[in-house]
Amino acid sequence: MAVAEAVGVQFGVHTQTKKTLADVEFALDSERNQYHSTRILEALQAYAPEQAGKIVALVQVDLFIPILTHVYGEAQLDGRACMVSSHRLKEDLKTLDLEEELTRRVIKEVYHELGHTFGLLHCKDASCIMHYCRSIRDVDRKSESFCRYCKVLLQDAFKRISRK
Ligand SMILES: [Zn+2]
Ligand SMILES: [Zn+2]
Repeated sequence: MAVAEAVGVQFGVHTQTKKTLADVEFALDSERNQYHSTRILEALQAYAPEQAGKIVALVQVDLFIPILTHVYGEAQLDGRACMVSSHRLKEDLKTLDLEEELTRRVIKEVYHELGHTFGLLHCKDASCIMHYCRSIRDVDRKSESFCRYCKVLLQDAFKRISRK
């Protein structure tokens, strides 16, 4: 799968894909007709294999957290689980290869959420992958890489983990 491969290259880790939650209906908020991403994250942790540091779930439903109208994804800061939804990333696709464009966006958001699981916070640099995106335009504008500053933080996080 393109996303798993991209993550392997970006983070220099071994990746594996597998089925996790059969559905996320338990997280549906019927008033908002959206899915509460924090609830999905909690359930997801149980699926993180022992030897795997992190788990990323890809979903297609519209996600929210109570203080925001929607989110592209959510992560446990310095934790094990994160997730990304393609739902809102489908907005305003404009190149000829729509699937490829959507995949690039998903990959960006996966890098971003994984960054949070390594303890990284939002970055002011608008081209950095850790920049907080309010709109799809922000997602398209940022690069697929961590800025120099975030890269150092990420390397530190890896060092901390390998010392454990
Ligand atoms: Zn974020
Ligand atoms: Zn940065």
